Amino acid sequence: MSVAAAYAMSAPDGQFEKLMIERRELGPRDVLIDVKYAGICHSDIHTARDEWGSAKYPCVPGHEIAGIVAAVGPEVSKHQVGDRVGVGCMVDSCGVCGPCLANEEQYCDNGATMTYNTQVDSSIQPGGYTMGGYSTQVVVTENFVLSIPEGIGLDVAAPLLCAGITLFSPLRHWNAGPGKKVAIIGMGGLGHVGVKIAAAMGADVTVLSHSLSKQDDGKRFGAHHYYATGDKQTFRELRNRFDLILNTVSADLPIDSYLRLLKLDGTLVILGIPENPLSVRSFILAGYRRALAGSMIGGIAQTQEMLNFCAQHGIGAEIELISADEIDGAYDRVVASDVRYRFVIDAATI
Ligand code: NAP
Ligand code: ZN
Repeated sequence: MSVAAAYAMSAPDGQFEKLMIERRELGPRDVLIDVKYAGICHSDIHTARDEWGSAKYPCVPGHEIAGIVAAVGPEVSKHQVGDRVGVGCMVDSCGVCGPCLANEEQYCDNGATMTYNTQVDSSIQPGGYTMGGYSTQVVVTENFVLSIPEGIGLDVAAPLLCAGITLFSPLRHWNAGPGKKVAIIGMGGLGHVGVKIAAAMGADVTVLSHSLSKQDDGKRFGAHHYYATGDKQTFRELRNRFDLILNTVSADLPIDSYLRLLKLDGTLVILGIPENPLSVRSFILAGYRRALAGSMIGGIAQTQEMLNFCAQHGIGAEIELISADEIDGAYDRVVASDVRYRFVIDAATI
């Protein structure tokens, strides 16, 4: 057993406080990672503030982890001490079900073990549930540890472990590329990385944001078009336009208005996960044979493919680096859509 420092919330309306947590002894296939950077995903906020209704306290969020291998178990073959590595939203899965065998561990039939807030045996995480990357060290089985290619800074790579793969996976699945019109709703942590990746894939990229306030940034990230959803004219002008729309918004949206922007056989993919159910008028789907779908992060092999793709195309997240005692303020700014474009915690300050 080793001891790590971490930042945790102890109640839904609490504040982050430092505490010491235990990490398991290294098993034969385990990797001990010195965390260098941890991104703040909106899912951390949904969980820590118990908006999804299953939070366990003290809650140590963090599933956008970048760091350096500090030690490895005797049977580890994929990583060595000193390697630049990352950990995303999952730290294990059953490995034998259909989705796992298809490299889609995030859809494991037996439930993937998420990086934080998943109940596990206390031999896996002392305390009985997983604790994430707002911490100085994590222990993860080698198959769930990604290699971060040289050429991407660890700080700007951290957000790719969740935000990057969450956008890369549906862009690949629905064949974004030359000749495809892709819209991304919401240009926050997920959305801004999605703009960069979709543009690098060669798609024609449109951002649908509250307002035009981030338009210059959107164009710099590679968007070809940028529209304000606060302007009703946007919905008239873009009707039946897109092959693929990715919704990254963390709040409830009038989804019918966005479905109308899909062309024949277009698909709107739900990525943002607000607490309330969606409501959709059947006619809007039936007309134009539109599809409404969802997608959750991506498998481990695809996450590695995404990291390699980002390194090749010079893609990292746009970040604001903060110290651990600034997490509460950062959460408030994310909720107020005042983030440019991902907060990343410098783990040296934990
Ligand atoms: P974020 O940084 O807060 O970005 C969300 C964006 O949504 C904001 O920047 C804003 O964009 C827009 N927005 C926020 N509130 C809005 C409102 N009331 N009305 C309209 N637009 C609003 O959050 P994130 O980290 O990207 O995460 C987004 C969502 O994805 C969260 O619900 C998170 O839990 C979920 N998520 C899902 C997966 C998955 O696997 N499916 C993975 C990670 C995260 P504009 O200012 O441009 O309008
Ligand atoms: Zn996330």
